[in-house]
Amino acid sequence: MDRTDLLVYSARLPDCKVLGPYTRAVIWVSGCCFDCEGCIAQNFRHSEGITISTVEMKDWILSLKNIEGITISGGEPFLQAGPIAEMISLVKEKKDLGIIVYSGFTYEQLLEKAETEQDIRDLLGQADILIDGPYRRELDDNRPYVGSSNQIIRILTDRYKDCWKDYYLSKKGREIEVIISDGRTVMAGVPGREQQQFWEELNRKFSEE
Ligand code: SF4
Repeated sequence: MDRTDLLVYSARLPDCKVLGPYTRAVIWVSGCCFDCEGCIAQNFRHSEGITISTVEMKDWILSLKNIEGITISGGEPFLQAGPIAEMISLVKEKKDLGIIVYSGFTYEQLLEKAETEQDIRDLLGQADILIDGPYRRELDDNRPYVGSSNQIIRILTDRYKDCWKDYYLSKKGREIEVIISDGRTVMAGVPGREQQQFWEELNRKFSEE
């Protein structure tokens, strides 16, 4: 795959508190190669998305003064591993931010791909935490932060090693934020069933108006 300096995203948030420790920027990339039953990100899987250069995205991240890190979700981030890794490395030249990446691929699949694909190696190498594996509705156990019990929170570096346990144990359940960003309503976080119903009803209401 040729490296490009363009990435395609569906939504982004400048300050999120439910997708990792501290305050984080969140980027949901567009497009996904999976088709998980019950996927809550249908609009990110299929939307045409917004095309942006890695430099523009880096500038947006650096304009956010209060964030400790970036969470990248989707869609499937590893389908755009090259530009995302490039954007992160541009950011890190200026500011040391922590990186959390969600993926429908398992860590083992990514490691195998990384043997032959530089872009996958680069993005994996940038991640402090990887939450891996596809959403499996039948394994949805309502744990905070992950969608189903097959998904694993992989602590890949020391950055969040000490704070992660406290962060995770402080969660009483699943948390979401519903925010209007770039003129659209976005839900951040992994929703429980009731939160998901609330979100679906909200969307229905908006589409009727
Ligand atoms: S990997 Fe994520 S975005 Fe893709 S279909 Fe599964 S739940 Fe949806």
